[in-house]
Amino acid sequence: MKTPTPLPVEQIPETLPRTQAHARPDSSSDVLVVGAGPTGLACAIEAQKAGFKALIVDKGCLVNSIYHYPNNMVFFTTPELLEIGDIPFTTSLPKPTRLEALEYYRRVAEHYHLHIRQYEWVKTITGGDGKFRVTTTDRHSAIHDYGARKIVVATGYYDLANQIGIPGEDLDKVFHYYREPHPYYDADVVVIGGKNSAAEAALDLWRHGARVTLVHRGPQMHHHVKYWVRPDIENRIKAGEIVARFNSTVQEIGADFVVLRTPSGPQRLKNDFVFALTGYHPDYDFLRSVGIELSDEQMRPVCDPENLESNIPGIYVAGVIVAGSRTNEIFIENGRFHGKLIAAHLSEKLGGGNPNFPLDAT
Ligand SMILES: Cc1cc2nc3c(=O)[nH]c(=O)nc-3n(C[C@H](O)[C@H](O)[C@H](O)COP(=O)(O)OP(=O)(O)OC[C@H]3O[C@@H](n4cnc5c(N)ncnc54)[C@H](O)[C@@H]3O)c2cc1C
Repeated sequence: MKTPTPLPVEQIPETLPRTQAHARPDSSSDVLVVGAGPTGLACAIEAQKAGFKALIVDKGCLVNSIYHYPNNMVFFTTPELLEIGDIPFTTSLPKPTRLEALEYYRRVAEHYHLHIRQYEWVKTITGGDGKFRVTTTDRHSAIHDYGARKIVVATGYYDLANQIGIPGEDLDKVFHYYREPHPYYDADVVVIGGKNSAAEAALDLWRHGARVTLVHRGPQMHHHVKYWVRPDIENRIKAGEIVARFNSTVQEIGADFVVLRTPSGPQRLKNDFVFALTGYHPDYDFLRSVGIELSDEQMRPVCDPENLESNIPGIYVAGVIVAGSRTNEIFIENGRFHGKLIAAHLSEKLGGGNPNFPLDAT
C-alpha cells in the first residue's frame, strides 16, 4: 500500500513562498505541538515526561480559546476534571471561572517549563515521518521554520464560527463571539441560538440593560443548557423580560432592523446588534492541507483510535478536532487524556526519549 504523505507544498492553500523560508530551521524538537489549548499542553507535558523534547506553537496566547470565552464565563466542569499533568486545580466555588482556568494553565506551563511560541501561526507542515518541517508566521509577518520528528495537531474549533448565510451577516453590528454586556446597554439586541452560549449571553445582556430578543430554530432551549442556567433563562422568558422567538429564524439583517421568519409569519424588528451564537467548527482546510483525511459525514480526521496517529505517519490529532463536526463529544474533560495515548505511541516508535533532554532544549 502506498504511504500517504502531506500535500506537495505548491498545492497547499495560502501557503508561504518557500523561498522566504529559512534554509535552516530555527529549532528542532522531537515533537512539535500545534495549539496551546488544554490538549496541546497535555500532549507536550506527557511527551516531556516520556523524555522527548517538545515545542508548542500557538497563533494566539496560551489557552487562546479560553482567553476568548465570555469574560465572566463559569465552566460546567468541576476543576479536577480540567486538570492536566497531574497538577491539582482547586477553586473556591464548585465550578471554575474563566479567570481561574487562565491562572491554572499558566501555572501548569510554568511548572513544566513548557517551550511555547505564542503568536505564531502554523501555515505549513511538510516533509515526512521523522523529518517534518513546520513554517509559521508571527505578528510582524516574519517567517519561522521548525524541524520536528513528530507532529501533534491540537488546533481546537473556536476560531471558526458557523455562518448562517443570510444577507447582512457581514455587517459590523453582527458578532459570533460574546465578551461582555456593557456596550449594549439600552440597545435592541438579537441573540441567535438555543444552547449555552446564547442562553448565557441573553441573560447577561438583559441583566445589564439591553432589550433582548432570543431567536432559536428549535421549539425550546436546548437540553444541553447548563442545569443552573436553564431555569434562569426559562423564567426570564416566561416573565417576558427576554423575548423568545422559538421555531423561528433570522432571514435578513439590516443596518437598524432584522427580519425574522416565525410560525405566525415574517416579523421585522428594530435592531442595534446581533449575536449569532450558532457554534464553531475546526479548521478543516488546515487539516486537509497537512494531508489529513476527513470522514465524509462528520469530518472526523482519519486516525487510529488507540494512539491518535492520523493517516499521515508521524502526524497525530488530539483534542476536540478528533470529533470533527461533533464538537460536543470531546471537550477538556476527555481530550486531556489524548496526551498520554500519544506519548505512549511516541515511546514505542522512537524507542524512548532523547537522553540529552532537557540539556539541548532550545
Ligand atoms: C464558552 C465555552 C465554554 C466551555 N466550557 C467547557 C467546560 O466547562 N468543560 C469542558 O470540558 N469544556 C468546555 N468547553 C469546550 C472546551 O473549551 C474545548 O473543547 C477545549 O478548549 C478544546 O481543547 P483543545 O485543546 O482541543 O482546543 P483549544 O482549546 O481550542 O486550543 C486550540 C489552540 O490551537 C490554536 N491554533 C489553531 N490553529 C492554529 C494554527 N494553525 N497555528 C497555531 N495555533 C493554532 C488556537 O489558537 C488554540 O489556542 C467550552 C467551550 C466554550 C466555547
